[in-house]
Amino acid sequence: MTYSALVDDLAALDEKNLRRTRRTLDTPQSAHVTVDGKNYVAFCGNDYLGLASHPELIAAAQSGATQFGVGAGASHLVLGHTRAHENLEQQLAAFVQLPRALLFSTGYMANLGVVTALLNRDDAVFADRLNHASLNDACLLARAQFKRYAHNSLEQLERLLATTKAKRKLIVADAVFSMDGDIAPVPELLALAECYDAWLLLDDAHGFGVLGDGANDKGRGVLEHFNVTHPRIIYMATLGKAAGVFGAFVAGETTLIETLMQRARTYIYTTAMPPLLACAVSKSIELIAAGASLRRQLAENIIQLKQMVTNGLPGGWKLLPSITAIQPLVIGDNRAATDVAEKLAARGVLVPAIRPPTVPQGTARLRISLSAAHSKDDVLLLCDALKACQ
Ligand SMILES: *Cc1c(COP(=O)(O)O)cnc(C)c1O
Repeated sequence: MTYSALVDDLAALDEKNLRRTRRTLDTPQSAHVTVDGKNYVAFCGNDYLGLASHPELIAAAQSGATQFGVGAGASHLVLGHTRAHENLEQQLAAFVQLPRALLFSTGYMANLGVVTALLNRDDAVFADRLNHASLNDACLLARAQFKRYAHNSLEQLERLLATTKAKRKLIVADAVFSMDGDIAPVPELLALAECYDAWLLLDDAHGFGVLGDGANDKGRGVLEHFNVTHPRIIYMATLGKAAGVFGAFVAGETTLIETLMQRARTYIYTTAMPPLLACAVSKSIELIAAGASLRRQLAENIIQLKQMVTNGLPGGWKLLPSITAIQPLVIGDNRAATDVAEKLAARGVLVPAIRPPTVPQGTARLRISLSAAHSKDDVLLLCDALKACQ
């Protein structure tokens, strides 16, 4: 046993310009960050409302630590489920207007837990090709038939549903696609789920807190955006993105949630999220519900960016047609994408270059993510820096 094969693998990554590196942040996650002593405007995070370092969340975490300590010290089913977790589950269920909610330690684990708890070898899962990696891994781990349909192709999904002989059927989709920023056709997916007697698992990692931004909406996510709800819907959202903290939850019918509590292995065999984080998330949900002005600021930033790049960018680069905070600029070639990201960084602007296998071959892109914490000047700086990247 030697490491030479691994050295070769790493060299192959270098050759394709696919080796990833990290930047080390010396400040909280925010629109303005410091890395190695240099200040940047960052368009990298998923902290869409600027809550990750909000003073009221920090205060809630601090008083949570005083009341409950730092670590949960046990899994939920043993003795790790505190009053803070219990209150948060009830608050989340009420917020998304579904009967019951269950906390998971991460979104990745929530997806693994749901799919493996509900399906086995006799069953089939139908998945959008652009779904998040955690959903794909969940489908493989469940050992069910794994059928993928072309991105948002309702026709192909229907053909697959119509021809399956599987006992249980589950449709799984990102509600907002994490690398494209577009929104899944939820009402149509739900109609197919009803017609073919399937469940519909929606991963709203990028919609929770930000979608639902009409006059009276509260940022409840994709279900509010489409004004739909249904017992077939299994709703999953993460708490580390717009909510600004950490963790995830699944919400739906009481029987479904009870089943997950009894059967989801990523729920059962892991330590409960630190209760101080549950306290911080509780405060975050309050701020999200009262956060219409934050969502308005975010929407204005999105419009401003789209308007400023309609006049054209070098290389014919175009934004994908997204109305969400995720505004991808497809460059194509891996090296070209990382080169542009480096040029932007030299101008004080951080945007991540996303390469395969996170996105399909030949579609390397800058994943610009906007936040309510960005100002007009920040967006202007980004656009000027992009235009200077010849
Ligand atoms: C981030 C993300 C996850 C994973 O959530 P974590 O809490 O970070 O593990 C799952 N699904 C989608 C679509 C995501 O973007």
